[in-house]
Order: sequence, then C-alpha cells, then structure tokens
Amino acid sequence: MRLSHYFLPLLKEDPREAEIISHRLMLRCGMICMIERGIYSWLPLGLRVLQKIQSIIHKYQQEIGALPMLAPTLQPAELWKESGRLDAYGKEMLRFKDRHQRELIYGPTAEEVLTDIVRRHVKSYKNLPLNLYNIQWKMRDEIRPRFGVMRGREFLMKDGYSFDLTPKDARISYEKVFQSYLKTFKAMGVQAIPLRAATGPIGGDLSHEFHILAQTGESELYLDQNLLDQEGLEMKDFEKFYAATDEKHDPSSCPIPLDQVSCSRGIEVGHIFYFGSKYSAAMNALVKNAGGQDIPLEMGSYGIGVSRVLAAIIEAHHDEKGICWPVPVAPFSLGLLSLGRSSEVEKTSTNCYQRLIDMGFEVLWDDTEKSPGEKLASMDLLGLPFQLIIGERNLQQGLCELKERKTSNVQVISLEEVLNILDTNTALPRFKEVF
Ligand code: ATP
Ligand code: MG
Repeated sequence: MRLSHYFLPLLKEDPREAEIISHRLMLRCGMICMIERGIYSWLPLGLRVLQKIQSIIHKYQQEIGALPMLAPTLQPAELWKESGRLDAYGKEMLRFKDRHQRELIYGPTAEEVLTDIVRRHVKSYKNLPLNLYNIQWKMRDEIRPRFGVMRGREFLMKDGYSFDLTPKDARISYEKVFQSYLKTFKAMGVQAIPLRAATGPIGGDLSHEFHILAQTGESELYLDQNLLDQEGLEMKDFEKFYAATDEKHDPSSCPIPLDQVSCSRGIEVGHIFYFGSKYSAAMNALVKNAGGQDIPLEMGSYGIGVSRVLAAIIEAHHDEKGICWPVPVAPFSLGLLSLGRSSEVEKTSTNCYQRLIDMGFEVLWDDTEKSPGEKLASMDLLGLPFQLIIGERNLQQGLCELKERKTSNVQVISLEEVLNILDTNTALPRFKEVF
C-alpha cells in the first residue's frame, strides 16, 4: 500500500481525552474514530489489525471443531423473557420497539439466540457434540464507557456456544475451548492468564476469565507467583495454582501463604462458562438420549473481546515512540521509507516495493513528500515489525537500512541481502495485497 493512496489520519499531539496508552496510540495512528461515547468507526489501519485478530481466532476455533456462523445483532425481547434474563440484565441492555411495537434488543450476548436455533433443529444426542461460534458486534450500554475500545458500548465479540448430552461431555467441550484460548492469545503475541471467576448474570458453576497483565487493567488479580513462570499448561495443571479475580479472592481462605500471592492488574480478554441446563431447561431445548428420553441440553458459552484484545495487545507492546506490533497481528509486516527526493531513491523504492509485493509481503510504503524526520517518527509510531529505509547517502554505496522496530536493531546492507533476510523469515506472513 502506498501511503499517498491510503487513508491514515495520524495525529501529531496526544489527544487529551485518552487516558491510557492504547487509546492514545490508536487515535494517534488513525486506527479508530469516535462517533459517540463508546462507539467507534474502524479506519482502514485499525480494521486490518481487527481482521488479523479474527483470522487467528477462526484458526484455533476450527482446530477444535467449532463451527463459524453469524447471529444477528438484533434480537426479540421475547427470547429473553423465556430465559428469565430480560429484567435481570438491567440498563446495560439497549431496548427499543420496532414499527409494529414489538420489543427488540441489541444483543449484549447470544445464549438465547443459539439455544433457540439448537432447540429447533437438534433433536437427538446423535447430533452432539455441537459448538457454534460467531464474531459479531455486541452492544452494552455501559455506564462508564472509557479507554477507547477497551470498554466500548458497541464492541466486537467472539462468542461460542457448546451443546452436549451429559455434564461429562460438556466439561470436555469446556476444556477444549480453555486450551484453544491459551493458544489463541499466544498466537496474537500476548500471554493470557486463566483465573477461576465468578459467573455473573450468565450463571452456572464453572467459569474462567482470561487476563492479560497490564498496569492499566481494570481488574485486580491475585496470583500464585509461580504461575507466571509456567508455559504450555493444561487446564488441570492450572487448577493447581492459586489464581483468583478480586470477586473470588478471600485472604482468610486463601490456600497458599499470602506472601506467595502477587497482586497484579489485568485486562479481561476472554471469559468462559459452563452452566449446564440453565438456558435449555428454561427454554425447553431438549434432545433424546440413547434411551429415547427427552433431556435438556448441557451448555457452555465462550467469549473473547475481539476489539478489546486489540487494545490489550498495544498495552503489552509499545515503547515511548509508539506501538511495537507482534508480527502475527501487525497491520503490515514492513514499512518502506524513501528518504530524499533523488530519482535514484525514487527508482530503487519503486522497484523494491514491487518486489516485496511480488514476494507476498504486506508493505506500507511512505512515498509522501514529508521530511525524513517526520517519516521516521511516524513509522516508529505505527510500529510495523520491520522498516526498510532507502536514503540517498547509503544508496550511493548500494546500501539501505533494515530496522527491526522492537529492538531498534539496524543493519546497513544491500537491498538483495534485505530481501534475502525477509524471504527466509518464516514468521512473516505472505499474502497477496489486501485492500
Ligand atoms: P467486564 O467485566 O469487563 O465488564 P464482562 O465480564 O461483563 O466484562 P463478558 O460477558 O464476560 O464481559 O463478555 C466476554 C468478553 O467480552 C469479555 O471478557 C471482554 O473481553 C469483552 N467485553 C465485555 N464488555 C466489553 C466492553 N464494554 N467493551 C469491550 N469489550 C468488552
Ligand atoms: Mg466476563
């Protein structure tokens, strides 16, 4: 993508309304634009990252056999009356009437919708297990929307729903999602810590939240210090470590010495629930078991805050100059900068851009007339993993600079060497240019 053909409204100054770093950087990088409290438009650069995050989620959902679908954003209030949640959900749920005076809501989550689909179409245990998920906009009329997309009113959520015959099978479904969430967040370049959680209005008896540790996190977490050094654990191993959100933590009944408990702040990026037949019993979603009896489905639901996790990734990966995107979610893998206006710089950059595109890399080429200083600063702000800098002086000796954003490590080498280094870097994704 040539910057001269792109829409990237960068801000020079820190916007005053932004209190946390991810919100500041998302606004400064022209990723989002607020249209109403807690409601944002996603500009081209922001959308690219959001799409990368979604692809990673799809990959790991489908790896465990979950099936993608799409539920609507609007739901009839009737369904929520059936489950008994219409009043319980309170003011966070946006309610309105259509022209026929039918009550509708803008979905804050979709347990009722999915239970309704499955009760209509699944009648036998032979069609189980089933795990359906979607990535869809949700609305919660938060009392205090803040921190940009971190706590929005409209936000993108992956929500999945599992249906099983027995509690034992349902627990297997739950554990599969648990494991796949750990992989999903890791693939995005962040470490998410699972914690036993309270179930809240969703209900049920087994629940975990997934948190990314960050100073700016809204949740208070109490963790066994040893947990932080662990990697690749299974759910049963995690259960051996103490990890609780503030709602669950109780110093008087904490099973490990209090000086072994570290108190951290975290951002909730995922939340999973096993709630048995809470919805299926209320909504009459029954299947026949092998003995021919109708019994209520065993269900779980599984959420990831897709737009929130994007902000959380920035909280975890930035420095004083800007964002440092992990490669798998970076909007482009590489920034190409042409410094100076000589025809030699122009020619080499054009050639180089074309070759990088042909190799399948996603490149953002700053081909504008801005000063070298400005180009370098804005490329650091954008935080693409690599920068290829073509400047007059180096070019006279047939050289250019390859800079790794995260480490600021610079190599002054020939263009052929740069292309070779990039070509052999298996971590860099290859695509045809996406517009
Ligand atoms: P929170 O405690 O942060 O209000 P929640 O527990 O009410 O969130 P869940 O019902 O567990 O939210 O929703 C699943 C996921 O959706 C959350 O783990 C979070 O990542 C995301 N999420 C929830 N509310 C918001 C919001 N207002 N803005 C952005 N993401 C959100
Ligand atoms: Mg939650």
